Amino acid sequence: MQIDRNITLLALSSVIVLALILILGTSLTHSRRVDLRENRFLQTIEKYKQMGLLENDLMNDRTLRYRLSLATLDYSEKKTFAVVKSELKKQQALLLQEPDNVERLLSLKEYVTALASRMASNSVFNGRVTVNETPQKNHLNILFLSSDPDNLLTGFEDISCAFTGTSNVVLCNSKTINRTLEDFDRVSENFSTAIATLDSDGSLTINSLANGAILKQLLKQNFLTWLLGHEIGHVILHGNKVNSGSMPLHFDFVYDDKEREADAFVVHAVRADNSLQAAFPVILLEFIEQRYHKIYQEQYGSSAMVFPARNSPVEQISITATSYSMPLLVRAMSLMDQSIHENSKALNQATYSVIDGKLAYVGSYKFTDYYEFLKTRVHIVEKPSIQSSRVALCFLIFGMVIALALLAYSQLHRKGHGEYK
Ligand SMILES: [Zn+2]
Repeated sequence: MQIDRNITLLALSSVIVLALILILGTSLTHSRRVDLRENRFLQTIEKYKQMGLLENDLMNDRTLRYRLSLATLDYSEKKTFAVVKSELKKQQALLLQEPDNVERLLSLKEYVTALASRMASNSVFNGRVTVNETPQKNHLNILFLSSDPDNLLTGFEDISCAFTGTSNVVLCNSKTINRTLEDFDRVSENFSTAIATLDSDGSLTINSLANGAILKQLLKQNFLTWLLGHEIGHVILHGNKVNSGSMPLHFDFVYDDKEREADAFVVHAVRADNSLQAAFPVILLEFIEQRYHKIYQEQYGSSAMVFPARNSPVEQISITATSYSMPLLVRAMSLMDQSIHENSKALNQATYSVIDGKLAYVGSYKFTDYYEFLKTRVHIVEKPSIQSSRVALCFLIFGMVIALALLAYSQLHRKGHGEYK
């Protein structure tokens, strides 16, 4: 009896020791593998840098004229135009005292650096952001590449940006991004954005012709806020450890829980920044309208778009959404829902900016009630993803196996009874 117990104890402890060795061994080889992967990754980036593949032309192009909004104005309390004007004048006097605040046009690199620094400021990467430089340890590193000959990232040619899961590096394909930015140059209508400049005589001017160029620029920078914020969200929320060895996390491929979390991060990061939180939802509504009208035209033809349908579309558009093909409109609407949920006055804000030497304000002339109406004009057809189809198939096969087993059992049972008879 005593010997039996000793043997059992011995067997049990050896099993535990073996299991511990196994766990420790696997984690050590795993971390060595991760280190090796990281070294190889950084060496490749260094090689790319020497080959001139870091995209510096696009990044340093000052003709892009990105502007950071300077301050915010809440006009939700049913302020009259005269009140807004007098507030603007006060603001103008204040702004002009600070030379730094007068028209700051940034290159893409300066804009991305400022944007990423703001969005990462409440994380461990506060003050630790690099853009198109040799990646640094414990930093958030964003790299714009023109090509990826050594295949650092699967499917690089088709992606805009992705979190690689290594060295906190976000890789962006400057060609794809450039194409996306050029798409905004084709925007020909302004659906909801109010842009007005304050003249020296105190009058507010809406220059529609000049505003077209500003609107395109605002749409571009809002999209970059979303795109980069999404990737920064992946780095902060999902990190190297979670993602090492698995697929890189993209902006524009499979849309699953991690993607939803990264999009939600954008809303939180924007909300935490005074001028971003006033600028982002306003231009997001414009983006939603641009997308909405494009689909409306495709489904009903341009004749249906004549005024007043422009402001109150009669027909409902229908769009299909799956996790493998999630339309940007659906994602943008989900960002808007979250923005309004966190701040019911998200659309009742304006930002100050300096446009062509004049103080300007950018806001929306459509508000939450309009957005809620627009939502009723969108019919989202949700189709099960391939993943859930796979799960369904597994269940089906499992069910069939059980059914067959039951059938076989009942057959055997009947046969058994027959023999007894
Ligand atoms: Zn993503």
